[in-house]
Amino acid sequence: MKKAIIIGSGFSGLSSAAFLAKSGVKVTIIEKNSQLGGRARMLKHMGYSFDMGPSWYWMPDIFNDFFKEFNLSVNSCYNLIELDPGFKMIFDSSEIDIHANFDKTCKTFERLEKGSSTKLKEFINDANYKYNIGIKFMYNAPGVSFFELLQKDILLNLTSFELLTSYRKHIRKYFNHPHLVTLLEFPVLFLGASAEKMPALYSLMAYSALKQGTFYPMGGFNKVIESLVKLCSDLGVTFITDQTVRKINIENKKANSVTINNNEIIKTDFVIASADYAHVEKDLIDKKYRNYSKEYWDNRSFSPSSLIFYLGINTKVKKLIHHNLFFDEDIKEFTKEIYDHKIWPKKPLFYVCCPSKTDEDVAPQGKENIFILMPIPIGIEDTEQIREKYYSIIIKKLEEYCGHKIDDRVEYKKSYCIKDFEKDYNSYKGNAYGLANTLSQTANLKPKIINRKISNLFYTGQLTVPGPGVPPSLISGKIVADYILKTTK
Ligand SMILES: Cc1cc2nc3c(=O)[nH]c(=O)nc-3n(C[C@H](O)[C@H](O)[C@H](O)COP(=O)(O)OP(=O)(O)OC[C@H]3O[C@@H](n4cnc5c(N)ncnc54)[C@H](O)[C@@H]3O)c2cc1C
Repeated sequence: MKKAIIIGSGFSGLSSAAFLAKSGVKVTIIEKNSQLGGRARMLKHMGYSFDMGPSWYWMPDIFNDFFKEFNLSVNSCYNLIELDPGFKMIFDSSEIDIHANFDKTCKTFERLEKGSSTKLKEFINDANYKYNIGIKFMYNAPGVSFFELLQKDILLNLTSFELLTSYRKHIRKYFNHPHLVTLLEFPVLFLGASAEKMPALYSLMAYSALKQGTFYPMGGFNKVIESLVKLCSDLGVTFITDQTVRKINIENKKANSVTINNNEIIKTDFVIASADYAHVEKDLIDKKYRNYSKEYWDNRSFSPSSLIFYLGINTKVKKLIHHNLFFDEDIKEFTKEIYDHKIWPKKPLFYVCCPSKTDEDVAPQGKENIFILMPIPIGIEDTEQIREKYYSIIIKKLEEYCGHKIDDRVEYKKSYCIKDFEKDYNSYKGNAYGLANTLSQTANLKPKIINRKISNLFYTGQLTVPGPGVPPSLISGKIVADYILKTTK
């Protein structure tokens, strides 16, 4: 029986573990934190259960397909419900609710811009097409050979991908109303560049948000991690927690073991690094074995980091729903500041998740679980004073919107930012979501899943193909497992 060590227990690590174990590989996952799940860990305090990372459950077909591979259904693993409204966007003096029923969304569009309901249908049909081809490509493109790009589907559909058209321009072909434009731009905000620099292909995200719907696993997003951990355990995967991999030991151009915190050496036939790529290359292997130099990483465009507040509120909060996007400032200025100028934004846009509106188990009775997230550039100064400055701005806006005091009802508060991402996940410059999905960092142009010099060292996760987000991380784990099973005997 071949042995594999997987470094890190995020979605990509758990996914590759499950596929390898299913094929008879003896897998051990080594995780530096005490909790499994990586960026999707859960923080429990005073009766509150906060999802620390992901909260938007989009692209539900990818989760379904994942569990189907193991003869399971999503609903046998966790209780998934569709949110209605899926989310709301709050502007200066108005707001838009996006409902589960697409016809309602069309009516909302029509109210704001005459003729836009027909245009929305056209936009979404086109986005659906891009989604289907794009997802198929993601599954079949480990990014190791140019020939992967010669797939029939890709060649025949190259023009419909609109790789050279900017997403903003694409939206403008259909809509003029600034709120509709912002609404359609928001789903790509976390992909690491302004809509102006993002290929129109990424309208596939809007398809998921507006047409497929927004879902929620009761108990929190971490229920998906729990299900993956159970699946892996059932398949015989061993978990070692609270142990950092310090070194990947290489002999005759093969990774034959890893050294962990307590100096124990664990032998293996393969290593799959699902921890942040830059950390693995910089800290775990000698310079001569690296795929990429320090300059390479310094020159990449990254998706944002985040300033996050986990708040336990000892009263119910008015007007909020599960997902609330405060887009009352100019999105163009905001994206310019965080992606081009790489500074703390002057006028923040932020997101408030209040899962206790849906799920009474994530907060004590009569209280509210609130997660606030503001995207920021990676690698900028992160101090307690800066965090507090933005807390004051955001909480004031929240109080104004909700129409009552919130700050003095906060009974639990934890902030999380760049320094925490670095410390907890060995994240390069505190990135939260990996590399930006710009054209020059897509598919074969992403960091490779193979190490060019060590034949049994592989990489998975949000910094390699297909990219950031939970569904892509699940796919990434499958891609690397398939590649190993196909290419190594
Ligand atoms: C705040 C936030 C909000 C997000 N929201 C969403 C969302 O709503 N929807 C969505 O789809 N996606 C979202 N994402 C993105 C998504 O969570 C990630 O893309 C995904 O979880 C990444 O998984 P991964 O396996 O690549 O990496 P990770 O989850 O980071 O896993 C890597 C693991 O490696 C471990 N590790 C690092 N170094 C070592 C070492 N030397 N030894 C041992 N272990 C090590 C780390 O501790 C970590 O557990 C969000 C991310 C963040 C941070």
